[in-house]
Amino acid sequence: MSEQTDFVLEEEYDPQSRYRHTSDIEPEFWKKKKLEEMTPQEWELLCDGCGKCCLNKVEIKGKIHFTNTYCRFLNITNCLCKIYAHRFQKVSDCRNIDIAAVREKPRWLPKTCAYVLIDEGKDLPPWHPLKSGMACSVHQAGFSLKGRKLVNESEVEDYENYIVEWEDL
Ligand code: SF4
Ligand code: SF4
Repeated sequence: MSEQTDFVLEEEYDPQSRYRHTSDIEPEFWKKKKLEEMTPQEWELLCDGCGKCCLNKVEIKGKIHFTNTYCRFLNITNCLCKIYAHRFQKVSDCRNIDIAAVREKPRWLPKTCAYVLIDEGKDLPPWHPLKSGMACSVHQAGFSLKGRKLVNESEVEDYENYIVEWEDL
């Protein structure tokens, strides 16, 4: 399958579709369950779609620094992966978001990541799609990558030149 075909497939995905059939989901499950107790569907719904985990990072003296460079397979218009179904085959360092990844130190997921928040015993923010019912609310609130000054990793030689200190990382 070509990368172009992958792109077209993912472009057809409607992020709002995740929130249309949630009648069988326990209301506010994120307040009642630990990460270990969530079903696969609940786990997937927990992702806010911010796209910030797809930024490239550099580790310097044991600290993770985010850059404003992004994986070449990220669609920066909707902050979704263009090749989600087979991302691990295509990108060797694409990380699965599992409990180990959420708890890894130094932390490489953004501080607003829903998995990080729940693991820290916090509530989800009001802009999280599970609270608003709208996939776009993360973008409207300004907590996704949408609209930010970003650089495609294919144009980058030295990631250390692109380190950013955004407050929500
Ligand atoms: S940072 Fe967390 S909430 Fe945001 S897209 Fe990645 S996994 Fe989902
Ligand atoms: S391949 Fe992985 S890192 Fe790249 S956009 Fe997709 S999910 Fe993000």
